[in-house]
Amino acid sequence: MKNLKTFWAAQADWFSSEGREQRIKDYIVLANQLVWKRQASFFAAAVLTAFYFNPISIFAYYGVVALTELLDVLLGRQSRAWDGQDPIMGQRILKRIALNTALSAIAISVFVVNIAVQQTSSGHFTPLFFLFSAAVFAAMYNSQMMGILLLRLSIYAFAFLYIALLDVLRFSPPLSSSVWLEFFTIIFVLYFIADISVKFYLGYQNRLDQMKLIKEENERTKAALEIKSQFLSTVSHELRTPLTSIMGSLDLINSGFVGEVPQSLKRVIGLAAKNGHRLANLIDDLLDLQKIESGEIAFHFKPLDVNDLVDEAVESVAGYANKLDVHLGTVPCAEHCRLIGDRNRLIQVMNNLLSNALKFSDAGGTVEVRVETLGSRIRISVDDDGAGIPEGVKDRVFGKFSQVDSSDVRKVGGTGLGLNITKQIVERHNGTIDYISELGVGSKFFIEFERLTESADAGADIESGAQAA
Ligand code: ADP
Repeated sequence: MKNLKTFWAAQADWFSSEGREQRIKDYIVLANQLVWKRQASFFAAAVLTAFYFNPISIFAYYGVVALTELLDVLLGRQSRAWDGQDPIMGQRILKRIALNTALSAIAISVFVVNIAVQQTSSGHFTPLFFLFSAAVFAAMYNSQMMGILLLRLSIYAFAFLYIALLDVLRFSPPLSSSVWLEFFTIIFVLYFIADISVKFYLGYQNRLDQMKLIKEENERTKAALEIKSQFLSTVSHELRTPLTSIMGSLDLINSGFVGEVPQSLKRVIGLAAKNGHRLANLIDDLLDLQKIESGEIAFHFKPLDVNDLVDEAVESVAGYANKLDVHLGTVPCAEHCRLIGDRNRLIQVMNNLLSNALKFSDAGGTVEVRVETLGSRIRISVDDDGAGIPEGVKDRVFGKFSQVDSSDVRKVGGTGLGLNITKQIVERHNGTIDYISELGVGSKFFIEFERLTESADAGADIESGAQAA
C-alpha cells in the first residue's frame, strides 16, 4: 500500500517535465549498452524454436523483431548527439522511443503468439516463459521512463491474455481443467510483473532523488566555500594594514631613531617584532593562497634561464643561510636550460624550498641546489642533510596548514602553507613537485618543468601575460 502511494507520488513527478531529459538520456545509454545482450537472447530464442516449430514463420517474425532492434540502434545514434538541453529535440526523441517501443513490443508479442498458436495441445510453457523473460527484462532495464515501460508491459499483457484465452476458447474446458489453472497462473504472473516493475521504478526514482540531493549539497558546499574564502581574504586584508603600521613603529623604535631604547625593553620589543613578522608571513601566505585558488593571480609567462633564476633565489636566502650556519651551494645546469615561466612566482617557489631546507638543517649542514636536464624536462632539486620527513605523510606535507608533527620540526616556525602554495604554482606551470626523504638523514625536494628547446626559444616571442597552459 505504501509502495503504491509512493508510486503514484512519483507519477505526478513524471508528468512534470522536470528531470525528463535525464531519464531519456539514462534510458538510451542503458538501451545501447544492452543491445548485444538483447540480440543474443532473441537469436537464441529463434534458433531454439525453429527446431521445434515451423522455421519459416519463426525466422520471418524474428526478422521483424530484428528490424525493430535496428530502429533502436538508429535512435541511439541520433540521440547521442543530443546534449540533453534542447527540449524540442528531447520531445522528438521521446516520441521516437514510444513508437519504437510499441513496434518492438508488438513484434515480440507476435513472435511469441505465433509459437503458441502452433502448439496444438494445451499448455504454453515455452511462449509464456519467453514473454515472462521479456517482461522482466523490460521491468529491470526500462524503469527510467514509467510511461514507456507501461506501454511495453500493456502490449505484453495483451499477448499473455491472448495466449491464456487461446486454450480456454479452443477447448472450452470445465473449471476443474488444468487449462483454467494455467489461465489463473498467468493472471498471478501478471500481478508479479507489475509489482517488480513498480519496485524497479521506485529504485530508479530513489537514485534520481539522491543524485538531486547530492547536487544541491554540492552547490551549497561550493557557496559556503566561496563565502569562507571571501571572508578569509577580507579579514587578512584588514589585519595586514594595521600590522604593517605596528611593524613599522616597532622597527622605528628598534632603529633608535625615536630615542634610546632602554636595555630592559629591547628584548620585549625584539620579541614583538619577531612575532609580528611571523604574523605578517601567515597573512601573506593566506592572501597568496586565496588569490591562487580563486584564479585572481595573473601569471606572466616568459622564457627564463633556470641558472639565473636559481642564482637569484640562492642570493636572496644567503643571509638566512649564514645566520643558521648552513653551507649553501649550487650545481648549475651545463646545457641550455630554459623554460617558460613566471619569474616572480618561480622565485617564490625556490625561496620556499630553500628556506625549508635551511630551517630544517642543523648548524654546519649543507644545502645543495642542482639544475639538470632529464630528457625534455628540467629538474631543479634542493637537497639538505637536515631533519628529514617521516614516511607516509606526503599528503600532509603538501596540504594546507600541515606541519609534520615531530618535536624537531616544531622548533622552527612556519605556517604550513608554503608547500601547498608552491605546489599550486608549480602545477600552474604544468610542472610537478615531489620529494624523497629519510628521517634524520635529509630531504631532497625536486620540481620539474617542460624544457624550452633551443629552436622554440629562438622563435619564442612570448610577451608578458602570455599563458603557458
Ligand atoms: P612550513 O611553513 O611549516 O615550512 P611548508 O608547507 O613549507 O610549511 O612545509 C610543510 C611541512 O613539511 C613542514 O612543516 C615540515 O614538517 C615539512 N618539510 C618541508 N620541507 C622540509 C625539509 N626540507 N626538511 C624536513 N621537513 C620539511
